[in-house]
Amino acid sequence: MNTSESRDDLILSSFVVGPMHSNCTIVADPESRLGMVVDPGGDAERILREIEGLAVSVEAIILTHVHIDHVIALGEVQQRTAAPCYLHKGDRFLWDRLEAQFSRSGFSFIPGTVPPRWLSDSDRLPCCNGAVLHTPGHTPGSVCLWFEEHKLLISGDTLFHRGIGRTDIAGGSFKHLEKSIVESLFTLDEQTEVITGHGPNTSIGDEIRMNPFFGEVMR
Ligand SMILES: [Zn+2]
Ligand SMILES: [Zn+2]
Repeated sequence: MNTSESRDDLILSSFVVGPMHSNCTIVADPESRLGMVVDPGGDAERILREIEGLAVSVEAIILTHVHIDHVIALGEVQQRTAAPCYLHKGDRFLWDRLEAQFSRSGFSFIPGTVPPRWLSDSDRLPCCNGAVLHTPGHTPGSVCLWFEEHKLLISGDTLFHRGIGRTDIAGGSFKHLEKSIVESLFTLDEQTEVITGHGPNTSIGDEIRMNPFFGEVMR
């Protein structure tokens, strides 16, 4: 999904990057222009051009989880911005195996230049009044980024437009994913816009009503 929304309350740009067509999102405060890059999943030059075009100062790089399709451009973006990257401690085992993930997939590994900082549930994000929702399931350390006052959620690979993240890879758990979505995401304001990890945007209300994986649960 490529969206560059003109809204008064946020600078928001989301665009497709990398070999697995991941959505990379830039969110920033329109007054201070301090912002974050979420999931730099490839195409570093494209991301850096976008940062420059929006005139945003990148304070943080947030990984919704540590699969390489959300991480490929991290090293290059850090080389240019020197911003720290943040990830949930539940994905530490994936972070520690990052180089192996790269070599298995055939992508060249450009290591991060700043040591990671660890996130926990309910942590405040460095800008735009965002908060961390720990939503394990796709991976143990998957997080969604919730901007309550802006009615915006960045869901990573936890919730998709009419879909959910796969749970058949290292550390995945359908039981945890279901609980995360039903007990955490589906309790948010239905008007909340959702930028997903891959594919089109959706809203919490639309997924409560139309996500095929939850018909049974919600009835
Ligand atoms: Zn993933
Ligand atoms: Zn992904």
